[in-house]
Amino acid sequence: MTTLESHICLQWIGNGRVEEEMLDQVKDHVERTFGFPARIRQVDVRPTDAFDPARYQYSSTKILRWVLQDVPLDAKKIVAITDCDLFIPVLTFVFGEAQLGGKGAVVSTARLRMNLNGLPTPRNLFRARLVKECVHELGHTFSLVHCHLSRCVMSRSNTVLEVDRKSGNLCRECQDHLKRRQAKG
Ligand SMILES: [Zn+2]
Ligand SMILES: [Zn+2]
Repeated sequence: MTTLESHICLQWIGNGRVEEEMLDQVKDHVERTFGFPARIRQVDVRPTDAFDPARYQYSSTKILRWVLQDVPLDAKKIVAITDCDLFIPVLTFVFGEAQLGGKGAVVSTARLRMNLNGLPTPRNLFRARLVKECVHELGHTFSLVHCHLSRCVMSRSNTVLEVDRKSGNLCRECQDHLKRRQAKG
């Protein structure tokens, strides 16, 4: 990795407007967790080929591919956040997708805003979920795999309840993994 790659880039690529201070909250937590500065980048274009009319959802893989076509030269990692409901073919939905040990990740707010009964979630809870899922997907880009500890942010979440159950932080073991990876460059 070159020294040019200095920061983690966060960008909103949703169809609706971005909530005020939402990205700042993600930024703070990402910086604390990974030890790199994060920057919020404004982009005006949106992916156009990711919508699947049969499923009425968006392909996370296609969105991720689109995001990776335009990464700032000095960005070490990039996380795109969207309000589109994401899927991969084998699952009903995904909260996000990331390249393991790669550069990019995408996270969706769509399912995190709702409780299991379909009712909207209070804003603080929604924001906490979003922070966790952004840290989780970014963790994958830093080569972290799923963790067996349910409190660790790298544990796998298939439902919002599982997101709520975990903390926003890496467990000791995952922190050690991260440090070892970073030491290798
Ligand atoms: Zn994961
Ligand atoms: Zn862990």
